[in-house]
Amino acid sequence: MSGEIEWRLHVDPTRCIGSGICAGVAPRHFVLVDGLSRPVAERIAADESVLDAAESCPVEAIVVSEEESLRRIAPEG
Ligand code: SF4
Repeated sequence: MSGEIEWRLHVDPTRCIGSGICAGVAPRHFVLVDGLSRPVAERIAADESVLDAAESCPVEAIVVSEEESLRRIAPEG
């Protein structure tokens, strides 16, 4: 199962305030470009660090979804 594409990452550029928290929490998955975060790859193998990043984002700009169902995994609620 490892290495399979399972999750999808999205950063809403209209919400992101460029705090850089996500890139600190999950540097393999988020990079700041011109002051806004973007996913390094939009489709990834499951990785807990992106859930931490989504939960840590102060404006909930990061959404992690299941690749197949598009069900939202994080942030919760
Ligand atoms: S934590 Fe949220 S607001 Fe901060 S850079 Fe990442 S997506 Fe943008």
